[in-house]
Amino acid sequence: MAQSDLYGVLGVSKDASQEEIKKAYRKLSKKYHPDLNKAPDAADKFKEVQDAYDVLGDPDKRANYDQYGSADGPQGFGGFGGGSAGAGGGFGGFGGGGGFDDIFNQFFGGGGAQRNPNAPRPGRDLQYQMNLKFEEAIFGKKTKIKYTREAQCHTCGGNGAKPGTSPVTCHQCGGSGYVTTETNTPLGRMRSQQPCPVCHGTGQEIKEKCPTCGGSGHEEEQHEVEVKIPAGVDDGQQMRLQGQGEAGQNGGGYGDLFIIFQVTPSKDFRRDGTEIYFDQPISFVQASLGDDVTVKTVHGDVKLKVPAGTQGGTTFRLRGKGAPRLRGNGNGDEHVTVKVMTPKNLNKGQRDALRDFAKASGETVSGTGKGNLFNKMRDKFNEN
Ligand SMILES: [Zn+2]
Ligand SMILES: [Zn+2]
Repeated sequence: MAQSDLYGVLGVSKDASQEEIKKAYRKLSKKYHPDLNKAPDAADKFKEVQDAYDVLGDPDKRANYDQYGSADGPQGFGGFGGGSAGAGGGFGGFGGGGGFDDIFNQFFGGGGAQRNPNAPRPGRDLQYQMNLKFEEAIFGKKTKIKYTREAQCHTCGGNGAKPGTSPVTCHQCGGSGYVTTETNTPLGRMRSQQPCPVCHGTGQEIKEKCPTCGGSGHEEEQHEVEVKIPAGVDDGQQMRLQGQGEAGQNGGGYGDLFIIFQVTPSKDFRRDGTEIYFDQPISFVQASLGDDVTVKTVHGDVKLKVPAGTQGGTTFRLRGKGAPRLRGNGNGDEHVTVKVMTPKNLNKGQRDALRDFAKASGETVSGTGKGNLFNKMRDKFNEN
């Protein structure tokens, strides 16, 4: 699974040191420990914090998470379920002081959906499907991609106000982003909190809007980014580029870009992870007498020693001629399966030679027609 914003869960920045991560973890696990915190969602938050630290507290897992969006490294396509959840998902850690979050939980029953509206929210994650040729996936490459994204407005720097002016505290809600309404119902007086209709929850009012973005703080841009595809990626795997997604809200950072690889199959090779499979046709003479056969690999041609008496369907392993291991060193292997070819359209000399061969083998070949001889020979030499 692609994991949610683990940095957000711990409330630390993506370049936080291991020490800062440890500190944040200690603080939050204490805060949400079910023995100490009786809020209904404390146990969930506690687990969330544990899970986040499990990854970010381990430099290897953290590196995988940074690059691929998961502690386990590159992911299959199926793992990327929550693509659009970015804006809502990683909200938790930004509340700042614990007291404030607690008050909110009391108001909203810890529902999660309506938390501090002024909190910075990271931007949406984006997906980009990249097609790779078979060899490109094996050897990796550097490339540039271009796509449209919501970026921070370059005129106002994202605050939505006309240059020279600034947003002011909302007169309606006093900056809280919420208004409280009371209604009489048969069950009694109900208090409810709603996002402020004036500032839409931001707590700030923009008197003179930025002419470029109309107050949204965002504008669309054509964004170009250089991508270094590691050697050994495979079809369906994804790679995460931090901060290359969309601009956040309320000063929240950019979301991430997930590149999903689609690899074109090869005419010659089949691939399963780091292993490559190849069929090598050889003549029945080569199979019978043995030969040095030139075999294609993605790393160039190599000589394969086919021993005398090799049966069709035999598989040989060419060590290190497969695809690179993404995180380890070295390559997988190429598995060469020999296909013994039965000769067609024999001339007289060849037919006579085979009859002599049959005779020398003490074999009686009954048919004199081509077809019969073919069948005999195929049974004898090509046992696929
Ligand atoms: Zn603007
Ligand atoms: Zn307001």
